[in-house]
Amino acid sequence: QQTETNTRENKIEYRSPIICILGHVDTGKTSLLDKIRNTNVQGGEARGITQQIGASFIPIEAIKEQTKSFAEKVKMDFKLPGLLLIDTPGHESFNNLRSRGSGLCDVAVLVVDIMHGLEAQTIESINLLRMRNTPFIVALNKVDRIYEWKTCVNTNFVDAYKQQSKPAIQEFDSKVKETIAALAGQELNSELWWRNKDYKKVVSLVPTSAQTGEGIADLMLVVIQVMQKLMLEKVIYQEKLQCTLLEVKVIEGLGCTIDVILVNGRLKEGDKIVVSGFNGPIETNIRSIITPPPLTESRVKSQFIQHQEIKAAMGVKIVASGLEKAVPGTSLYVVDEDDDINAIKAEAIKEVESVLNDIETS
Ligand code: GDP
Repeated sequence: QQTETNTRENKIEYRSPIICILGHVDTGKTSLLDKIRNTNVQGGEARGITQQIGASFIPIEAIKEQTKSFAEKVKMDFKLPGLLLIDTPGHESFNNLRSRGSGLCDVAVLVVDIMHGLEAQTIESINLLRMRNTPFIVALNKVDRIYEWKTCVNTNFVDAYKQQSKPAIQEFDSKVKETIAALAGQELNSELWWRNKDYKKVVSLVPTSAQTGEGIADLMLVVIQVMQKLMLEKVIYQEKLQCTLLEVKVIEGLGCTIDVILVNGRLKEGDKIVVSGFNGPIETNIRSIITPPPLTESRVKSQFIQHQEIKAAMGVKIVASGLEKAVPGTSLYVVDEDDDINAIKAEAIKEVESVLNDIETS
């Protein structure tokens, strides 16, 4: 029976899960994103990391490499092609998109400053994630600021912790206790990740430093574990299109463009699409699908890369006419020959109403 299950599983195609980083201002969201990217592009080797639009793709090979210090302790069978990390803190429109953005992601990393504990936007984020049933991990960031912390650059946290002096461990333990108590006040059970025996009911705490790189490996490992233990079904690749509009941007030489995250399915040059607009649904055709140049060539000011067809999960920019009034946070639809375009437009109208509602109530 084992063999049968294996064969069946081998046939399943998974897409990259979409990961969002949320949290209170100044907790280190942007720094963590940068650190995750940098530790993966060390020594000029990009290890296949690709900068997309509004997101970075981290291939599973890079994650395997980064988490290999755990290989003996944690048995892992990597099933996913990689992770698609959304660049949310960089999105100006994210305030309006926040509630929908959290629905877009498969797993969230909620960043908490270990010295400050839970803050107003931490609690707001927790509520959004709960509303959308999105599993999340807490990154207890800025551990390097613990009194007498001995920095262990880019070391996994479990090993870094063993290097610490008694006073550092005492302060760390007491900060962790405070956070666990504060999360309990929000009716959440939480535990340091290596002590967590029940990912379903207990939120994992992953201590990190976006400055010195401690715990980044742990964070990657726990994201993959949570995905594979709780959400694997959700990331089976689907041909049925699922695509969310992140941002509307005017780009010199291209005109008005939209940045989208393709969650499932494919987009092709020339596709007829419908997107929600503030003045009603917009019907247009994809002129081009583009992404930034590869990271390794970023010093050369090169052009965008054009794609004739892309497959989920991916963050891309779409060039088409008439996009000026498109509404961030809504879906993009592809209209095939046998689709009922009026039904699609009706859906698009409904979505705008719901976005406007969200904005009013937030
Ligand atoms: P964001 O507002 O959540 O995106 O936070 P930023 O990434 O902009 O970080 C806010 C400030 O905290 C910046 O001055 C960072 O350099 C600093 N910071 C971020 N992460 C760390 C960390 O792990 N350790 C220390 N010591 N400082 C950090």
